[in-house]
Amino acid sequence: MSSTTSIFHRSLETTYPVALSGDGVYLLTKSGQKILDGSSGAAVSSVGHGNQEVIDAIIHQTQALSFAHTSFFTSDPAEELANFLITESGGPSIFSKVSFLCSGSEAVETALKIARQYHVYRNEPERVNFIGREYSYHGNTLGALAAGNNPPRRAVFGPILSQVFHHVSRCFYDADGEGRSEEEYEDALIQEFEDKVEQLGPKTVAAIIVEPVGGATLGAATPTKTYLPRLRKLCDKHGILLIFDEVMCGMGRCGNYHAWQGLGGVAPDLQTIGKGLGGGYLPLSAVLMGPKVYSVFEKGSKAGEKFTSGHTFQGHPVACASAIAVQRIIKRDCLIPNVVKMGLRLRMLLADGFPAELVEGGARVRGRGLFQSLDFGTAGTKLGGPLGAAVRDEAFRLGAAVYLCSSAVDAVLFAPPFIINAEEVGKLADIVLTALRNSQ
Ligand code: PMP
Repeated sequence: MSSTTSIFHRSLETTYPVALSGDGVYLLTKSGQKILDGSSGAAVSSVGHGNQEVIDAIIHQTQALSFAHTSFFTSDPAEELANFLITESGGPSIFSKVSFLCSGSEAVETALKIARQYHVYRNEPERVNFIGREYSYHGNTLGALAAGNNPPRRAVFGPILSQVFHHVSRCFYDADGEGRSEEEYEDALIQEFEDKVEQLGPKTVAAIIVEPVGGATLGAATPTKTYLPRLRKLCDKHGILLIFDEVMCGMGRCGNYHAWQGLGGVAPDLQTIGKGLGGGYLPLSAVLMGPKVYSVFEKGSKAGEKFTSGHTFQGHPVACASAIAVQRIIKRDCLIPNVVKMGLRLRMLLADGFPAELVEGGARVRGRGLFQSLDFGTAGTKLGGPLGAAVRDEAFRLGAAVYLCSSAVDAVLFAPPFIINAEEVGKLADIVLTALRNSQ
């Protein structure tokens, strides 16, 4: 046996430092290293680590009720959190119902199944196709993996992925827009969606799924101005459902409660959230369901039918109680305005300290709120390798963790906790820019 650990780790060659404790924006390792959590893992730790209010809420709820299966019961924390999410989103005319799951992937699977069943209830069972986008990431379970298009993650599993998922181009003007105005670029993308719908047959398409701001694969790629509203129109024209996957970019991360609110303001029919919802204290995700979809399920239910899906741990009372605490802290302490303020500061510091010679190779800072990336374009290291991995490793050695984007770009992603202050933002930018200089 070559490995000293019994865990089947992501990489069997890597020796992972042992994380021992967390405090605010910092994580401490067993060997005494203090790491500034510059990406909240993968955009998870919205209120930072070790928050006593969240810990107390978890203890309190665990003592009262640790688990009750949703086949038999509902629970106060699940009901309260659902109400909170609906109210904060603008009320039942935006989202009428909430379904809680444990991971982003599970939320995506559930949204896809809700979309399918919605059409079956409406007597349109021929709607079996889904359209996603190239270089999107929707999760690692088989349905979510098929809906997304992250080539390295799909490579091994391609032959066993469902064939009802189709992909069109990503919306990434920075990389793909060259020689065209934003309007021309956007026109071409919307036309590509139209063409795909026509090619599949408009009445065979169940849903379109997009990340409003591309995260794990694209490094905080914001769509062109009217892209999301035009997708909404296209979906309405053809009776197709629109799903926004805000597992990574949502819940305040981009400086709006929902990212789409700052990107044209059109609500989807179904929205997935996760990560920052529970802030990492316990696993929790959700699907937010708009009134159009809900009304069809309500009718189906009156006819004696029900949503044929479910998971053992859905609506877990302790996870919901922890998320209520997290979400109340975000609201009470005005952390979303802090996301906007600190996001601008981080962006400015990164842009100011960016070596000018890299800009010629297409390098840039990009993003919204505390969801920013440093994209190295085609620069590479002296030895010709990607800069992203080198910067990520060197920054970790110097005391800051940033997320390495996969497949489509050579970039690192910043997504620190919403509680980060100006001094900590300065330290984060400083470490990563030093790491960049050391890696070039
Ligand atoms: N959707 C998006 C947009 C994501 O970024 C992720 C995770 N990076 C997922 C879904 C899957 O979430 P999870 O890893 O919790 O299953």
